[in-house]
Amino acid sequence: MPLSHQQLASLRASVDPGVVARSRAYARAVRIVSADTTHVDALVQGTHEYEVFLTVEGTRLVASCTCPFFDDRFEPCKHAWAVVEAAVAQGHLNALADVARPRLIAGGPDDDLDIYGPDEAEEDPEPLELRDTDPRTRWVRALVGRRSQAQAPREP
Ligand SMILES: [Zn+2]
Repeated sequence: MPLSHQQLASLRASVDPGVVARSRAYARAVRIVSADTTHVDALVQGTHEYEVFLTVEGTRLVASCTCPFFDDRFEPCKHAWAVVEAAVAQGHLNALADVARPRLIAGGPDDDLDIYGPDEAEEDPEPLELRDTDPRTRWVRALVGRRSQAQAPREP
């Protein structure tokens, strides 16, 4: 099943609007080398030829490009977005069709992607303010202690 307009719009919302606008000039410069439901490898001919990799990681599409903009800013560039549009138009990346609101993020084919997913970072729970005078405090402390023990990594 190909991606819907809403899903493409959700991906586009992750990209700087100026980048999306500039990507239009590259729509015909995209040459997809290999692609399937979860990966795209493409070349984009601009001033130089740049290589774009796209990989579906869960609810995210991870993009990388060999251009200086991407190297400098580490965010989706016009080449990456041009490849996304071309790939979706050709029916690739269908693994995202199951994702209601897919996002496009910058990454690299060899990176540990968890580094680049601030939204996926585990959020620390708000610290509980406990007053020793409150008789419920000990009960809460016991509960919190038990929970943090349960979350502690197991010994190998
Ligand atoms: Zn680029």
